[in-house]
Order: sequence, then C-alpha cells, then structure tokens
Amino acid sequence: MGKATGFLEYERMDTKASKPEERIKHYNEFHTPLSKEERRCQGARCMDCGVPFCQSGMMIGGMTSGCPLNNLIPEWNDLVFQDSMEQALYRLLKTNNFPEFTARVCPAPCEAACTCGLNGQPVTIKENEYAVIEEGFKKGHFVATPPKVRTGKKVAIIGSGPSGLAAADQLNKRGHLVTVFERSDRIGGLLMYGIPNMKLEKTVIERRVKMMEKEGVTFITSIDVGKDKKVDKILNEFDSVILACGSSNPRDINAPGRDAKGIYFAVDYLKATTKSLMDSNLKDGNFINAKGKNVVIVGGGDTGNDCVGTAIRQGAKSVVQIEMMPKAPESRLATNPWPEWPKVLKTDYGQEEAIAIFGEDPRTYQTTIKEFVKDKDGTLNKVVCVKLEAKKEEATGRMNMCEVAGSEFAIDADFVFIAAGFLGAQDYVAKAFDVELNERTNVKTKDGSYATNADKIFVAGDMRRGQSLVVWAIKEGREVAKEVDALLMGYTNLQ
Ligand SMILES: Cc1cc2nc3c(=O)[nH]c(=O)nc-3n(C[C@H](O)[C@H](O)[C@H](O)COP(=O)(O)OP(=O)(O)OC[C@H]3O[C@@H](n4cnc5c(N)ncnc54)[C@H](O)[C@@H]3O)c2cc1C
Ligand code: SF4
Repeated sequence: MGKATGFLEYERMDTKASKPEERIKHYNEFHTPLSKEERRCQGARCMDCGVPFCQSGMMIGGMTSGCPLNNLIPEWNDLVFQDSMEQALYRLLKTNNFPEFTARVCPAPCEAACTCGLNGQPVTIKENEYAVIEEGFKKGHFVATPPKVRTGKKVAIIGSGPSGLAAADQLNKRGHLVTVFERSDRIGGLLMYGIPNMKLEKTVIERRVKMMEKEGVTFITSIDVGKDKKVDKILNEFDSVILACGSSNPRDINAPGRDAKGIYFAVDYLKATTKSLMDSNLKDGNFINAKGKNVVIVGGGDTGNDCVGTAIRQGAKSVVQIEMMPKAPESRLATNPWPEWPKVLKTDYGQEEAIAIFGEDPRTYQTTIKEFVKDKDGTLNKVVCVKLEAKKEEATGRMNMCEVAGSEFAIDADFVFIAAGFLGAQDYVAKAFDVELNERTNVKTKDGSYATNADKIFVAGDMRRGQSLVVWAIKEGREVAKEVDALLMGYTNLQ
C-alpha cells in the first residue's frame, strides 16, 4: 500500500456524467474521466486489506461478492497511485481478458465488497480499471501480440459474446488455431447487440476484435451453426468445439391480447436501434421508433433500464417501467450485511433521465400486466395492469406475488418492450450438437466442469450458467479454455 492514510485523506470521487438533458441528445458514452492526479488519489484510497474481499469472487447467500475474475485489485490500485500505469496494465490483464468491457458495464461486485464501503464509500475500483486499460491503449502499451508457436490444434467457438471471445483469446494465446462462428452480422454477442451504445460504445468492441484478428483469431459472421453450417462438418474440421451461444430464449408475458401489434422483446428493440445506429447513424429507419409514443417496459432490471434510456433518446411521449417485486430499501438491511451484494435501490442512467425529463421515476412496483388492449386493426393502445402483494404459500412456506383484488388500472401504451429475463439455451443448437440440457434448459455439465455429454464439445457463459453478467461470461471463457487446452495438450498452463 503506497499511501497508508489515503482512505483517511481522500474522499471517493466518481467520474462526472453529463447532465441527463444533454446526454439524451446522443447515443455516446457520457462520462468524463478524472485527471491523472485525481485518479492517483482514488488509487491511494485502497487499504490493501489483509483479506481483500474485493477480489474474492465468492458466492454468499446465492449472490456474487467480490470480483468473479479475482482481479488483483489492491495491486493495481497501488500501481495507479504510484502512477505505474504500464505495470498496472500487466497485472490487470493477467486475470481479465477484456477490462475495457467490464470497466464500462460491470455492476462492480468488487466495490460492494470493498472494506472502505463498510464505514463510508468504497474505492472506485471499476473506474480505476477503466483508467488502466484506456491508458494502455492510448499510450500503445497494449498492442497485438500473436503467439510465437502454433500447436496445430484447431478449436471452433460458436458464439462471439464475452464468453466465446475470452475462450478464443486464451486458446489463441496458447497457440491453438481458433475460429469463432457468429450468426449475427457483427461480433460481440450481447456486448454488441444488447447493451446500448451509450453504455458501451461499439468502437470499443471493434478495436478489440481487430486486435484479436491481428493475433490470429479467425472470425466468421452471419453463419448460424446448426442451420447454415452443418455440425458434422465442424466436428470433422476441428479438434474441439466450444458452445458459447448465450441464453437467448426471452421470457414472455402470457396475457390476453399478446398478439397485438406493438409488443416486442427488449433485445429485439435494443438490437435494431444499435444496428441502425451503426449501419447508417439511424438514417435507414430500420428500427422500432418510440418517438411520440407511450412506452411501457415490462421488467425493472438493467435490460428494462436500457429500454428506458433508448426510448427517451428516441423522444418517447411517456415511459413507464413495470416491476413485479417491491421497491428495494435505500440502504442495506440488517439481514443483508457487508460483504454480501447489497439489495438496495439503484437508480440507473435511464431512470435518472426519465426523472429529469418527465419529473418522476418511471418504475411502478408490485405490478404486472393483466391484459393487452388493442384497437380494431389489432394495434396495441392500452395495457391493463394489476397490483401485486407478497403472500406465503402454506404448503412450502415460499413467498409468491399475488394479485390484489380490484386493483386493476389502465395505462396508455403504443409500445410494450418485454424485458422479463431469459429462459435458457435455444434448443436447435443443443439438438444439432446432441448435448443434454438441464432442468433450467441450460446445457448440462458436471459441477465445476465445462464438458458436455458429447465427445470434445464444451460449453461456457450464459448457455451454461443461465442469464448472468459479462464478468461471469469472461470467467467461464477462461475456465473452459483451460479444460479444452488440457484435452488437446494433455496438460494446461493457462491461468
Ligand atoms: C439488454 C441487456 C443488457 C445487459 N447489460 C449488462 C450489463 O450492463 N452488464 C453485465 O455485466 N451484463 C449485462 N447483460 C448480460 C450480459 O450481456 C450477458 O450475461 C453476456 O453477454 C453473456 O455472454 P455470452 O458470451 O455467454 O453470450 P452472449 O453475449 O449472449 O453471446 C452469444 C452469441 O452467440 C451467438 N449465437 C447463438 N447461437 C448461434 C449459432 N447457432 N451460430 C452462431 N452464433 C450463435 C449469438 O448471436 C450471440 O452473439 C445484459 C444483457 C442484456 C440482454
Ligand atoms: S471486473 Fe467487475 S468486479 Fe472485477 S474488478 Fe472490474 S468492475 Fe470489479
């Protein structure tokens, strides 16, 4: 620890976000990094704890506490304070293939477990990570480094989200010949066509994909494996296959009137906006345009928030976000102590923007949709909602959200975006590769293993663990790479 009294001398200082009224005029990222001196003070706040919970990546109470990648956080915090940014970069890259993604989109379980957060504000770990990786790119310390020796072994990776990319990066660095197949027209999975540009600018993904290409990874887009490309051909051509296809079956709302025109899944809405933005700066009009529309978003989570931010940028007339669960408390309850993930109210960028534009939080809690009301030609014009309350099930003791009789109310709605989560792997890919699914419709593996029931076929990311986070996808990509490497070489030296 470079500065023993850093946490006493300096307050937490976050990067500044531009005002909601300004940032909704564009789809770009909107935070201004701190100056070098300010950033050094933030590094100095790290106490280099004897037991650094921030880097533990444990599951406590079914939730992640600390960094799942076990990033060497106190080490690089200290190097940030020392202004040894190049050294900090090497320590960061030891455990995280894509800090430029996590530093933008990770919910930072590391900070929730930071000891400074026990009695004050946690260290700005995520923003320090951003400073290290971006300076690495800017100063040219982070450049393509192709492997010196090739093993001659060939690995196919199906799906180019963060898990597929992390596996590709690891296996390519080890010297294997890696080909990534992607059914979309662009590489990146939900990093590209899920998370909006204002949270993660797509040039950041393209920058890294170019680097990986220089390092020898082959990317093939617009190929839907199992449909356009025969599985037998892949199995003959490659020594091993990793399935990293995500968890892309959206959960639906089965209420009367569901067939009304104007109801979309959130990812289809977000993807169309990003694709049009990238293809033509939105000039081609190939997106679902919420301009002047009453928008209802089902799901109070991060995906729902991304829909709020996108609809506001498009100029929606009104935005309501419906959430089944009760409003979370403002601060930790006694039953949710540090270093558990804090189950507290989070007001994200889209919700902040809604508050600034419409004067109120778009979220309405303990509510669900009972009916979609359509007009004569089948177009949505209202949703009928009902309030919910928690009730204990006698037999099991489980709490269920139940309808409150007579609490129905209607909201004007031209568009509904369903952001109610995902239900496992798409079964055509699983069937094509003849891999078994578990009861949650994720691809089945033994605990702690990434091997499927099928010979030489592995699985990683959301397709294995179910809907999760970018940081977990990267972790799974690294772990599956070790197992594949061990199969191909008889041992592995990947970390
Ligand atoms: C809208 C949205 C916002 C999110 N925001 C965040 C966030 O802010 N922070 C965070 O940590 N997490 C976020 N997540 C979750 C995160 O994006 C995922 O957990 C993560 O991307 C999973 O990575 P993956 O590699 O397993 O799969 P994915 O990213 O889903 O990638 C799978 C890829 O496989 C491709 N594919 C599927 N089948 C085939 C086939 N047969 N042939 C070829 N290609 C195929 C798909 O096209 C896709 O590109 C968000 C998710 C959504 C939906
Ligand atoms: S990857 Fe996420 S959890 Fe890990 S250090 Fe970065 S922000 Fe924290």
